[in-house]
Amino acid sequence: MSLDFALIQQIDAQLPQTQCGLCGHRDGCLPYAQAVSMGEDANKCVPGGQPVADALATLLNRPKFTALKSVWPVQTNGRPQRMKAVIREDECIGCTKCISACPVDAILGSGKQMHSVLTDLCTGCELCIAPCPVDCIDLVADTNTLNLEQQLYEQNDLRRRYYAHIQREEKQRFARRGPIVKAEINTSLFAEFSQHIQSVPSIEIQQLTEEKASIDPQTTIKMARLRTQIKKLEKQLSVREDLKKREQLEQLIHQITHIEALS
Ligand code: SF4
Ligand code: SF4
Ligand code: SF4
Repeated sequence: MSLDFALIQQIDAQLPQTQCGLCGHRDGCLPYAQAVSMGEDANKCVPGGQPVADALATLLNRPKFTALKSVWPVQTNGRPQRMKAVIREDECIGCTKCISACPVDAILGSGKQMHSVLTDLCTGCELCIAPCPVDCIDLVADTNTLNLEQQLYEQNDLRRRYYAHIQREEKQRFARRGPIVKAEINTSLFAEFSQHIQSVPSIEIQQLTEEKASIDPQTTIKMARLRTQIKKLEKQLSVREDLKKREQLEQLIHQITHIEALS
């Protein structure tokens, strides 16, 4: 099924760009926008709360559902309380794990040095908290409420920062020296989206070897998508056998083997 990038962009434009994964899409707002464009419920963005669920329902001409509940109380603007991360700097051991966990590059610091959060950029997504081995990151309530214009400005800035983060992580994928704190982002959707939509920064997928550098970008994207589908099916089949899925898996393996042979 081909993707409707114009619709995905419209959906993505409504999402807060916190990239927290609370909607069930680990890699953030764009994968959720893609899933919603293909029929997934539009009320799952936790930081967006009821206003985002309603805006998406209106955009898609669907019934309005109650938004998934946040653990934080709802503010006057209908969204959950915004939070900010704060590092207890005297306890930080400078392990750098929080840096690659932060999707919007809001943490500063280097190896064995104290780290700190750039409060203005922090979205309170909490993704830095679990990787911290000494549990020295707190969340505090942000009492500022943004107006619509500020909200839009922030969303666009966060999206741009996340794309920069993805591109950096992608570049480090084959030459990583720092710690890996979360599963690698599935870059292919972002690369494909950025090829179709001018207003987002371009994402380029890195090649593994010089030999593979001859593969054109479209094929690389296709192979990355196939690999993701294969991984997903293998995981599902490891839990429960399913003839249809097994057949699908074999077809996908056949496809990728064929492409690799031609490359
Ligand atoms: S901000 Fe909303 S859409 Fe984006 S990752 Fe978080 S829950 Fe998902
Ligand atoms: S500093 Fe932590 S809570 Fe703030 S945006 Fe980065 S990962 Fe999320
Ligand atoms: S993960 Fe924790 S200990 Fe490590 S650098 Fe970040 S704040 Fe410091």
